[in-house]
Amino acid sequence: MTTPRWGPGSTSPAAALPHYIVVMPAPTSCTACDFSWDEITRHNFAARLSVENEALVAALSSAGARATRRPSPARWSVLEYAAHVRDVLISIRERVILAVVLERPTGVAMYRDERVDAGLYRNDTSGDVAEELQVLARLVIATVSSLGDGVQDRTLVFSPQSPHEVTIGWAIAQLVHEVRHHLMDVRENLTLLGDAP
Ligand SMILES: [Zn+2]
Repeated sequence: MTTPRWGPGSTSPAAALPHYIVVMPAPTSCTACDFSWDEITRHNFAARLSVENEALVAALSSAGARATRRPSPARWSVLEYAAHVRDVLISIRERVILAVVLERPTGVAMYRDERVDAGLYRNDTSGDVAEELQVLARLVIATVSSLGDGVQDRTLVFSPQSPHEVTIGWAIAQLVHEVRHHLMDVRENLTLLGDAP
């Protein structure tokens, strides 16, 4: 009897995808924030990410005391949305780097709600997160601009939680989408909370 390579009791490598996960097509557009993944190229990435990120930093900085308030139990606070975007920039950058090196790796899942529920954002302040967003946007832009020709067509499974087979090009566009989408969430929060200081 042969032992299965990645059967019960064995240790599967980080790049292997559990058998119960079905790879799904990746989204190509988001009607909520009016975004299409094919808008983003390696050449316009820096400008597009910068515009969205600077707007997010400005919205976070203008939120004042409203930054830590949740308008409803179903929504995060402005600060939590911004901290999530910070972590997204870190996480997707790591997935891109993994896909540059490995053949069709599976990215590490974010566990976005679990991070918040576990209290991992409790020490964040608006000033710190604004600074971190600026540093990380610069770092992500430097990484993307360093990618060689053809690299954007390499594939990865985005994560076990989002089992889409995507290209590095799609993941790069997703960086812009995440910032843009959550900027919309932040602006909605500020509208819902009104002008109260
Ligand atoms: Zn969106």
